[in-house]
Amino acid sequence: MFSVAKFRDLFPILQTYSNNYPLVYFDNAATTQKPLSVVQASVDFYQQSNANVHRSSHYLSSKATRLFEQVRTQIAQFINAKEETEIIWTKGTTEAINLIAHSYGLSHLRANDEIVVSQAEHHANIVPWQHIATMTGAKLVVLPLQSDGRISLENAKILISSKCKIIAINHVSNVLGKINPVKELVALAHKQGAISVIDGAQAIAHLPVDVQDLNCDFYVFSGHKMYGPTGIGALYGKKSLLHIMPPYQFGGEMIKHVSFEATTYNTLPHKFEAGTPDIEGVIALGESCTLISQPSRNLMFAYEHDLAQYMYQKLAELEPVTLLAQGCPDVPIFSFTVNNIHHQDLAAYLDSKGIAVRSGHHCTMPLMSYFNLDGAVRVSLTAYNTYAEVDYFIQQLKLYCAQEHRLESKPIVPKPFEANSSPQEDTQQAEFVRQSEVLEKFAKARTWDAKHREIMLLAKQLPRLDKGERQPTDLISGCESKAWLKTKICPNINTLWFECDSDAKVIRGLMVIILSVYQQKTPKQIIEFDISEYFEHLGLMQHLSPSRGNGVKAIVERIQQLAYNRLK
Ligand code: PMP
Repeated sequence: MFSVAKFRDLFPILQTYSNNYPLVYFDNAATTQKPLSVVQASVDFYQQSNANVHRSSHYLSSKATRLFEQVRTQIAQFINAKEETEIIWTKGTTEAINLIAHSYGLSHLRANDEIVVSQAEHHANIVPWQHIATMTGAKLVVLPLQSDGRISLENAKILISSKCKIIAINHVSNVLGKINPVKELVALAHKQGAISVIDGAQAIAHLPVDVQDLNCDFYVFSGHKMYGPTGIGALYGKKSLLHIMPPYQFGGEMIKHVSFEATTYNTLPHKFEAGTPDIEGVIALGESCTLISQPSRNLMFAYEHDLAQYMYQKLAELEPVTLLAQGCPDVPIFSFTVNNIHHQDLAAYLDSKGIAVRSGHHCTMPLMSYFNLDGAVRVSLTAYNTYAEVDYFIQQLKLYCAQEHRLESKPIVPKPFEANSSPQEDTQQAEFVRQSEVLEKFAKARTWDAKHREIMLLAKQLPRLDKGERQPTDLISGCESKAWLKTKICPNINTLWFECDSDAKVIRGLMVIILSVYQQKTPKQIIEFDISEYFEHLGLMQHLSPSRGNGVKAIVERIQQLAYNRLK
């Protein structure tokens, strides 16, 4: 029997709090948490075995090398590679795909050859191929999806032609959580003389992977998605291919002999491992591999499967929720939209209740375009998540939907600008939220929960721009949710007046806070004002997630740029 309670106990971070609520970590597709055994292995390495590998002739170096190479054997067994020399250490999935693209791709692709990817690839499995295609004249062909989110085999039979030299597809999509028919796709590729690259980033922690059974040519994954450290990952490649591929990076470790006349390269796998590797990362990865290689791992996968079914049923009961792909995901990754609610707003609300989810494009912009979305909310579970956490999440999701629909029915504050009126006239009467008002509200809001509520209330004070007024030139790049900023100058008083808007309410609320210090100020005042200090004072800095934080930064930078332009 798999015991989720015992499994959870291995992860110290799961006992911590997020915004004063017990942490509910539902962002496992981005990275998983680390068990104490992994953390301890890193510490032990530095305390007891630290030395460089393969080089020095002393006790510690032999010890470090032994520990390091043992993990290569362990990983080879974990994915059923024929030999450990078929395992190359990389920084992660992204570097592994870049290695294959630059080494195999550059040396094998010719003009008009085809590289086949799917509509649901992570950018890491698109952009390196695009780059290599530009360098070689090869073309990218995109396999469409079925409505259940899996790659369509019927279409693949037609699209994988004799021109195809490489297929590069995911085992499991990081957005849709569906297992693709990899074995069949690999066979189709081989039939046409092409090789296959499988992105296993989202499969490795959730299903048994057998590279010989799949018969794939390359299989890549990241340690941090399987409870291991960040910055370490593995590339499996068939020995016959690795042999004929040129090295990707050059320097120490990857050579057999160096002279100014002729340098020869090392044997596998070292030919592909230039420089000092992430020794500690590899050794700690060994611990995470041990964790999910337990005899009971099928029970763990069965638990994840049941938990996914539970979440699926709960989500399916919620009328405003639409999953991007039909049917229950095979691994517990759920991406969805909620009627009339922006994905960033939902994510920000859940965050204020201690639930970590991801919102945005999930590094799959072409997939978002396919669904005609600018983003979605993604909830990704793993074996340490519980039914109680799912219940809590569903309860909060329902509460937020109910609250939003109530708020939406209230009248929106009218715009201060009338169309065609001059800015000078307008700004004299225009109302905006002042800095003192913001300070007063935030002085009372002590927790992030309360601050978040204030931000959402402030959002209602931002006059909206008409759709027609949202010009592409006003779009702020760097903001994950679309945001627009327009400016007008009040000539007599030389102050700036800004209008802005965003689809995400949380961003609109933050815009009100930003404008509370910049609205109707001279360019000089704008430039001199220390907004970081203001955010710090409001207690916002530490709560702005990377995507929202970057959005705020981008808005502030645009305002400052406009002020600079006025000064010139
Ligand atoms: N492919 C997929 C399917 C992924 O989910 C990810 C990580 N989100 C990557 C590639 C890139 O992995 P990494 O950032 O660890 O290189």
